[in-house]
Parts: sequence; structure tokens; C-alpha cells
Amino acid sequence: MRSADLFREAIGLLPGGVSSPVRAITPYPFYTCSAAGAYLETVDGLRLLDCCLGYGPLILGHAPAQVRTAIEDQLARGWLYGTPTPTELELAREIIADHPSIDRVRFVSSGSEATMSAIRLARGFTGKTGIVKVEGGFHGAHDAVLVRAGSGATTLGIPDSAGVPDSTVARTLQVPFNDADALEAVLSSDDDVAAFILEPVLGNTGLILPEEGYLEDVREITRAHDVLLIFDEVITGYRLGIGGAQVRYRVTPDLTTLGKVVGGGLPIGVFGGRTDIMQLVAPAGPVYQAGTFSGNPLSLAAGLATVRWLKEHREIYDRFEEGTRAIEEVIDPRLGSFVRVGSLFKHFFRIEPPRDYMEAKQADTLAFRRFWERMLMRGVFIPPSQFETNFLSVAHGDAEMAHLEAAYQACLS
Ligand SMILES: *Cc1c(COP(=O)(O)O)cnc(C)c1O
Repeated sequence: MRSADLFREAIGLLPGGVSSPVRAITPYPFYTCSAAGAYLETVDGLRLLDCCLGYGPLILGHAPAQVRTAIEDQLARGWLYGTPTPTELELAREIIADHPSIDRVRFVSSGSEATMSAIRLARGFTGKTGIVKVEGGFHGAHDAVLVRAGSGATTLGIPDSAGVPDSTVARTLQVPFNDADALEAVLSSDDDVAAFILEPVLGNTGLILPEEGYLEDVREITRAHDVLLIFDEVITGYRLGIGGAQVRYRVTPDLTTLGKVVGGGLPIGVFGGRTDIMQLVAPAGPVYQAGTFSGNPLSLAAGLATVRWLKEHREIYDRFEEGTRAIEEVIDPRLGSFVRVGSLFKHFFRIEPPRDYMEAKQADTLAFRRFWERMLMRGVFIPPSQFETNFLSVAHGDAEMAHLEAAYQACLS
């Protein structure tokens, strides 16, 4: 069956026809039947160069041999035990060695679960209730972080979703990204804040980089106010390099959340941090956290194979930077702004690169939509939103990069 027909049936089975909202492309999404390397194959017989990569996890591309072997090896030995496994020690050791902020980790099953648990832990550790997040920062789809940008930095949270009680998010405060003064203002006027959670590089509003000194400033300000600093590195972890944003920008948070790449394409989330904080997590301490699928053997095997490969091939991160620079060079700067870091890149239909959510929202989304369609016609799949970042993988070789450069040049005109 073709994509249009499948989607017509899906509408009667799944809300909006999909399992996650961003997949609902109008008039209908394409359906994928297989994937290998840098390419998706659709049920309509198209072969698409994939720069969405499952929204980030697939840094080695689709079905890479080393991850597949690790999964198959685990599959043959069963895939859920309900007991500890040796693999969780191996992946924990790698993560702890790679991240200056992490001395202990807890494995969970998604990035959302990781941030939800990290926030609970921060509240348990500090005995305070408020959290501050960044406008446009995304930390998964749970209640406490589903809050839209308020009209001012200290405006109380207004839920971004029906079904989230105002009371649940009343203690979720917002500040603009790249504005350390706004954070200082909130924390000086409110002494009941447990944590400031942010993506050190915003990857869910297109792509927005921290300005020089911003992350250092938030580190100092949070420390001065006894507020825990949580880096949500679900996208940036193992994407900006080994050790993610905290190593790249040399700023050490109190807690870190990981996901996506660290599961090698299978479901995973991780939260970790200083021993004195992490020792509060059950059963070591009173902050409850549990999951049937936590530390599931398949995700750990895939994640471990991915992380080990990356650590043995660190030069790949330079290749990513060269790749995204080459794309930037073919684009006429009068057509918008191009933002890139590591294997992340995004073209904004806005002449200056945005420095926060409000500026990102000024981008011309209709122009993006036309561009997205033209890219698809040229065989390139990028995430269907101006506010999602694009990704490269190790499987994007010279031919793929040449294709991508030509596509950007042709479609942005
Ligand atoms: C994707 C993402 C999440 C949520 O992870 P899931 O595995 O989809 O629950 C959280 N934080 C950031 C920064 C993300 O990009």
C-alpha cells in the first residue's frame, strides 16, 4: 500500500494518524519500510537521504553493522531479565568517564523520563519546589515542563497543553535563552527554586547556540543561589563530541540528562550527577524512581556499541564540522542564516541567527515549508519543521555531502 492510503487508514486508528505529533506531515507523511546507512526507503519506492535520523539518535546512520551485531548478540541471550546486568556497569563506566558532571547514573527508558526524574531529584535534594526553564527549551512531554513562554521572565507558568493543571506548572518559571540577567532576576526574587534546567545548545527551536560566557554565567548564578543546574543533553550528548556540551563549553552542571545517541537508536534515557545528589535516588535514598524497562539489555547493548565506536573514532566530530561548514559555504547568506555545531545544523528563514525563542519564532515558516518540499523532491528528508534541528551521521559520506550541498544550493533560491 502507498503512503497516502496508509495514512487514510491510520487516521481511523491513531489520533492524527501518527504515534508522535511531529510526524503528521500534511497532506500525508511518507511511510518508511526500511533504512540503511544514510537512506530511508519509503513504501512508495523513494530512496531519501535522511538528515532527521530518528530525530537524533542515529549518529552512526541506520543499521550500522557494529550496533546490529551487538543487538543480535544480546537478542540471542534474551532481552529482559528484571535483574541487574553486566552491561549496565560497562555503559555506566563510559558515561561517567566522559562527563565531568557525572559520578553516578540511573538508566531509564526515555529522555522525558530522565528530565522528569532529574527534576524530582533536584526538588528532593534542595527541599525547594520551583524550577526555571528556558523559553522554547524542550525537555520531553511531561507536565512540569510543558509550559509555553510567558509574557515576562517571572510570569507564572501557563500550561502548553490541555490536561495540565495550572497548579502543576505554577512553579515552572521561564527565562529567555542567552539572558543571564533574566535568570539572576528570577532567582533573586524567588528563593524557592530547586533547579534551572536548560539545553546548553537549544535543539528544539531549530538550533540556537549559547553566546560566549552565557553558560559560565548561569553556572555562577545558580551556584550563588543554591539552585541546581541541570543540563539536558539528550540531544547534545555524544553529538557535540565526547562529553557533549559540558566538555565542549567547559561548564559542569550538577545534574545531566542524556538520551537519544546514548541508546544507539533504541529507547533510553539517563540521568546522572554528583554522588551526594544521586545518593538520594531510591533505593540508596528517598527520591523514588523505578521502571520495568530501565536499563533494558537491548538499549544498553546498542548504546555501548555506539559510544565505544565514537570514542575510538573521535576524528568523526571534526568531519561533521567540516561537513556542515561545507553546506554553509554554498548558501547565499542573503537567504537567511545558517547555524551549526558538531553534527547539528539548521537554516533559518531569518537574516540573523536567532539568539532566543522569540527571535526563532520570527522565522518565515511558509518559506521553510516550501524549502522542505523542494528538498524532499530532491531526495533529502530533513525534519518537517523550522523548529527542529537537522542531523548528520557517520554514514553521510562524500557522495551524501555533495548531494546535500547541491540540494541546499538549489532549493534555497
Ligand atoms: C528528545 C528530547 C527529550 C525527550 O526525549 P524522549 O526520549 O523523546 O522522551 C528531552 N530533552 C531534549 C533536549 C530532547 O531533545
